[in-house]
Amino acid sequence: MPELFLFALSEMETAVAANLYRKSGILDRISRSEACVPLLLGLVVFLLCLFGILTRPAGFLAAIWPANAILLGLMIRLPKSAGWQGWFAAGIGYLAADLVTGSTLEKSLLLNAANMVGVAAGYQVYKHLPAASRRLQHPASLLHLAMASAVAASVAGIVGGIANPILFGGSILPGWIYWSTTELVNYISVLPVVLSAPKLEGTQRDISEQIGRLSQEKRAPLVLLLASCVAGALVGGPGAIAFPVPALLWCGLVYPVFPTTLLTLFIGVWGVVILSNGLDDRSLQLDVMTLVSIRLGISLVALAPIMLSCVTQSRNALMRRLQYLATHDQLTSVLNRSAFREEAARRLAPGTSGYALLMVDLDHFKSVNDTHGHAAGDTVLVKFVQRVKNTLPPGSLLGRMGGEEFAVLIPDSGIIDAVAEAEKIRQSVGSEPVPAGNGKEVQVTASLGVVALEHEDAACLDTLLAEADRLCYLAKKRGRNRVVAVEET
Ligand code: GH3
Ligand code: MG
Ligand code: MG
Repeated sequence: MPELFLFALSEMETAVAANLYRKSGILDRISRSEACVPLLLGLVVFLLCLFGILTRPAGFLAAIWPANAILLGLMIRLPKSAGWQGWFAAGIGYLAADLVTGSTLEKSLLLNAANMVGVAAGYQVYKHLPAASRRLQHPASLLHLAMASAVAASVAGIVGGIANPILFGGSILPGWIYWSTTELVNYISVLPVVLSAPKLEGTQRDISEQIGRLSQEKRAPLVLLLASCVAGALVGGPGAIAFPVPALLWCGLVYPVFPTTLLTLFIGVWGVVILSNGLDDRSLQLDVMTLVSIRLGISLVALAPIMLSCVTQSRNALMRRLQYLATHDQLTSVLNRSAFREEAARRLAPGTSGYALLMVDLDHFKSVNDTHGHAAGDTVLVKFVQRVKNTLPPGSLLGRMGGEEFAVLIPDSGIIDAVAEAEKIRQSVGSEPVPAGNGKEVQVTASLGVVALEHEDAACLDTLLAEADRLCYLAKKRGRNRVVAVEET
């Protein structure tokens, strides 16, 4: 098998994957100054190719050539970089790396043409895929990734196949098969890492905080994964490469997509190392295609945890959305009645004191609807809630109990403080007319009933709500636009 088809393998690949995150972040920022992007892209390709060439082992084992997958990933992530300048700079990067390491111009042109047409084909496929797929945010993303990788690898394989007889005296079909399968392994191992890497919009501190939180809360799958690797290395043999699969699936279930892609890449590299050691020990002579088949198998298995992570993440996001919809009022976005009651009851656990409960009801709101229309009434409700929120002390709970009736639970508050808070609300609502859309302004006022739980009484939420409601009703009776805290005789 021609030497050109033997790709480099090194533990350094994992370092490249980790650095990739930083590099893509740098590109995210530098993409604002467009002139730098092609330059940087060319440099990244040059360095990745140098890494691939310099770590290429003398042995027969085929390994990862990350330049193409990383270039494709960066172009997908930063579409600005995929102009002709970006492609030109990447081409220079490919050629320069080959030429400085002693390759002939003819060889370098042919081999890098294969690299670049593969990347271009993958890019064309991704251009037609939905945006969520480009960031591995959708369960179908992995299918799309496998599809784009297969197209990129097959197209690169055509040029690789043609190059085989010209440069190495081989034949076209075996050249195509070998090049395509090796490229497929490269794409499906490395591309998920680039596509799922978070943007470096925040600081390095944010990222290290995220990693710290992850390692503290959810260490078990990672520990099991490392233990599986150790067990696999101790037991050895071809079966060892399957040892980390259960732990990897667990990681996919627990971790977000990006850490999962890094772990699967790591396991892919580890699997090849284990395999090569096993072969050395037993002096087995497997042909190169068998090794490619095994690597392809490892890479495809590695897609399962990433897919699991994608599905879990999108399911979690859906659950969060459903949870939000089930607990919040759709018009004003404050807690709905049942969520307010649940949270207030939780806070008013037996033995608590120092809570105040306010019932707020807009005055003559029916006439707002009658005069200005229901849509204007809706806008007034939203603006009213904003004003209430702006006056509330920290830690307060605001809920819509129904229609134009809202409840507020204020912590650390006796009756005097609570009345002062209620007055603030009343004044902020009535101080100036509320914009009601279409340039209309509506003057609204509110009536409030206030109760406080000053001693460690039996804190029954229903009793407090009924009492606050009764006092609010009293405020209405006494002329509205007022606060009532105690029943006066
Ligand atoms: P009072 O001062 O006694 O509270 O008089 P009111 O008109 O505010 O009270 P009433 O209970 O008679 O009417 C409440 C009105 O609130 C009736 C209803 O159309 C209106 N309302 C309830 N929910 C909504 C809503 O989501 N949007 C709009 N625009 N109006 C609503
Ligand atoms: Mg009312
Ligand atoms: Mg009412």
